Amino acid sequence: MTAHTDIDIRIEGKAGRITLTRPKALNALTYEMCRAIDRALKSWAGDPTVALVIIDAAGDKAFCAGGDIAEMYATGKAGDFDYGRRFWRDEYRMNARLAEYPKPVLAFMQGFTMGGGVGLAGHVSHRIVGDSSKVSMPECTIGFVPDVGGSFLLARAPGRLGEYLGLTAARMLGADAIHAGFADHFIPESQWPGLIGQLCDSGSPDGVLQAAKTPPASELADLQPRIDALFSAQDLTSLRNALAADDSAFARDVETALARAAPLSAATTIEMIQRLRGPSLTIRRALELEYRVAHRIMEQGDFLEGIRAAIIDKDRDPKWRFADSAVPAVAVSALLRPLGRDTLDFREDSMQIAFIGLGNMGAPMAANLAAAGHDVTGFDTAGTSADGVTMAASAKEAVKDADVVITMLPNGGILRAVADDIIPAMAAGAVLLDCSTVDVASARAVADQAAQAGLGALDAPVSGGIGGAQAGTLTFMVGGSPDAFEKARPLFDIMGQKAVHCGPSGNGQAAKICNNMILGATMIVTCEAFSLADKLGLSREAMFDVVSTSSGYSWSMNAYCPAPGVGPTSPADNGYTPGFAADLMLKDLRLAQQAAESVDADTPIGEAATELYRRFVEEEDGAGRDFSAMLPRFETRGRS
Ligand code: NAD
Repeated sequence: MTAHTDIDIRIEGKAGRITLTRPKALNALTYEMCRAIDRALKSWAGDPTVALVIIDAAGDKAFCAGGDIAEMYATGKAGDFDYGRRFWRDEYRMNARLAEYPKPVLAFMQGFTMGGGVGLAGHVSHRIVGDSSKVSMPECTIGFVPDVGGSFLLARAPGRLGEYLGLTAARMLGADAIHAGFADHFIPESQWPGLIGQLCDSGSPDGVLQAAKTPPASELADLQPRIDALFSAQDLTSLRNALAADDSAFARDVETALARAAPLSAATTIEMIQRLRGPSLTIRRALELEYRVAHRIMEQGDFLEGIRAAIIDKDRDPKWRFADSAVPAVAVSALLRPLGRDTLDFREDSMQIAFIGLGNMGAPMAANLAAAGHDVTGFDTAGTSADGVTMAASAKEAVKDADVVITMLPNGGILRAVADDIIPAMAAGAVLLDCSTVDVASARAVADQAAQAGLGALDAPVSGGIGGAQAGTLTFMVGGSPDAFEKARPLFDIMGQKAVHCGPSGNGQAAKICNNMILGATMIVTCEAFSLADKLGLSREAMFDVVSTSSGYSWSMNAYCPAPGVGPTSPADNGYTPGFAADLMLKDLRLAQQAAESVDADTPIGEAATELYRRFVEEEDGAGRDFSAMLPRFETRGRS
């Protein structure tokens, strides 16, 4: 189901399986891996063939040593904070989805399970540790704060373990993790493969309880009274004073560990845990608070410096913003202030969308999607952009994390070329939604190509023109699978007022060209009739009044009247500035003729309309004018 090499997502027996396959990087979680996990979780939630979800990882060193921060560092250092914010935001949403998942989720945490790894395994229904598990939240040592829902676990940990684990990054062995509430079951790792096989076969998590053993004694449990005494301090300065007054070896160890934490991070972590601790704590509250810090940490915190010292220059000598005991309370509250419109939300309908082709139609359609709260990344070879849309340097880059890729391009040839480029770069399970008007054969070829790559595909040409694109009142005529149609439905609801599922791939284009063949022909005959009425001495107002309420009525007459000053406002009232250009009408009529030929359909009026628009655009003054400018054309002509 996935083309990623860093993660293997598939269904085995009755289990949805997610295996991290980056053991050389200690299975560090990239943004793409997060997105792939989230997509899989979404699709399995309502899939009756998936009874439970198993998350595990390749290699014996680590389940997952955290988020992959290299890209965040590179972009943040260049002053681009958006990438990091997007990564965190989508990762936290995925953490919440895991915590609230409607089916059992089992995570197997061998070796290092840190930060982002805790976000993956620490909130699920069955959290399994073994002989090699080493669980920790080391964010303060890189100038960040415990996140991915870590603050939720820390705030719920017994006594003051939360402060201790968050500030010192202490490593918990399996038994410690169970004691602290980061894990549920201890199962020797030699038994994991057999257990996983059994879980896939049975679709029931009951085998976990049968396999679970009493964990070895927890050292952390033994330390608990001393930790509670030391960490009852309300702030960083009091904690340091308490440590200085304690001459035990444990107090020295804590001091050493604390010296590695960025002081601003440590002070903020204490404040976060204290705010969160209590009966009203939920995973969403914790993630929302964490995201306030994440959103600001590159600008206002020590994060970039922390990564530099830890993984870039590796000098382990970070220059933190504040000295040990001198973190001003205002710096902490500045990180934790509410974010207003940037607040992390958990709206289900928020999708990552790529929009290729931001022309007359595409730009307003993309802007409407962004205004509705979707994350839209755009690309256009002409360098055009749209409100609220993040621009990418290439089509490939725009599509790589998208749930849905929308194309709004001039013709089938360009669509095929763009599809060749982007399909290999699209994420598994994503949907390619082409809204351009193209020939049926191109639509079907692109849909086949997408299906072969494990993607959904829809051809969804529109009617309604630029006005409809701006107002979000387009009509979509859609070909493709019912599944893909359902996935795209919320987007149709934003960009349009109606979406009709016309059947399999290509049928959307078929509906579009049939509709536009009628439109072209009715516009011509409406213009002919006005010109005839002129010559017969019938006023245009009278003609409109009669026809618009009689059997000759049509959209061309009633909604788009080609006579200036008559009927509702239309391009005729604006000197025939398109609107819908005659060139585009000619394109659609040609597509209809091409299709008619391919299936041997007799379409004499369509053929005549095509020829009239061809002459108008290619031999007369129709190019660049609205398609209703046929009326002035007829006005100047006689019968010959
Ligand atoms: P447009 O020419 O304004 O927009 C097309 C955009 O695609 C341009 O900005 C162009 O730069 C971009 N583009 C071309 N090649 C590209 C590539 N390889 N990669 C990325 N971008 C590329 O046209 P439009 O009016 O927006 O129409 C788009 C489609 O919608 C067409 O298929 C048209 O037939 C259809 N349509 C238009 C209308 C209308 O009223 N304009 C109505 C219904 C349907």
